[in-house]
Amino acid sequence: MPELPEAENIARALSRVLTGRTITQVEVFSPAMREPLTPLLTAGLEGKSLLDIRRRGRYVIAELSDGRVLLMHFGMSGVVRVEGGNIAKRKHEHVFLHLDDGKIFRFECTRRFSLLKVCALPCAGGIPAELDKFGPEPLSDEFNGEYLYRVSRGKSSPVKSFIMDNAIVPGIGNIYATETLFGVGISPLRPAGKLTRKECDLLIQESKKILHRAIELGGSSISDFLNVDGSEGKFAQELKIYGKTGQACVQCGAKILSARIGGRTSAYCPCCQH
Ligand SMILES: [Zn+2]
Repeated sequence: MPELPEAENIARALSRVLTGRTITQVEVFSPAMREPLTPLLTAGLEGKSLLDIRRRGRYVIAELSDGRVLLMHFGMSGVVRVEGGNIAKRKHEHVFLHLDDGKIFRFECTRRFSLLKVCALPCAGGIPAELDKFGPEPLSDEFNGEYLYRVSRGKSSPVKSFIMDNAIVPGIGNIYATETLFGVGISPLRPAGKLTRKECDLLIQESKKILHRAIELGGSSISDFLNVDGSEGKFAQELKIYGKTGQACVQCGAKILSARIGGRTSAYCPCCQH
């Protein structure tokens, strides 16, 4: 599932190839992914330029020249490509946006959990209203130990679910939450309200370090995710605990256990994480 580093890399890659381009034609091949796609046909996108492409949480936002935005999310299996027009349509490609340089922005998604839609005038900061309830960006200065300590007081939910909640901080998914908690020796099962102030600082530092590293390496490309240019991320090779249930802990050699937390499998070391 594409997480923040993958979305960041998609936004950067799309920014390089789409900024300043004008949409000349829209083709829709399927009625819907997570939401209907046919509204794209009547949205009046033809003639609109793409001014700026940015990320919020795991969403990518492309600002249109008429003030609206194209909002995208890559679900479990979303892949976007910008290619020349001479490549045949792939089976699970659902939308083509033809561009004025002859290339085509193509959205592929085998499992159809992705999102591509036009949002009306965004609110402050160019963020669509539906992302307005998100907490501070994980790589921003507003996501700091003081903030995490304050919002976690009195919370009995497991710390792993807590840091995966978009309303607390958007974009830290299963892979990065699992790795961050291992890195700081905190059990994913610990109630968020039991974090100390010092642990909040450490957790924030570790999450930023891991996310920056994953962005640098192009994301983790678990499952069928590919970056926008088709290259796969290399962070998967640096994972210390995610997906390693039953193997020996790299730090202490103990057998890695897993728990179901918030419907997701969470690997953790019973010796290193408390
Ligand atoms: Zn261990």
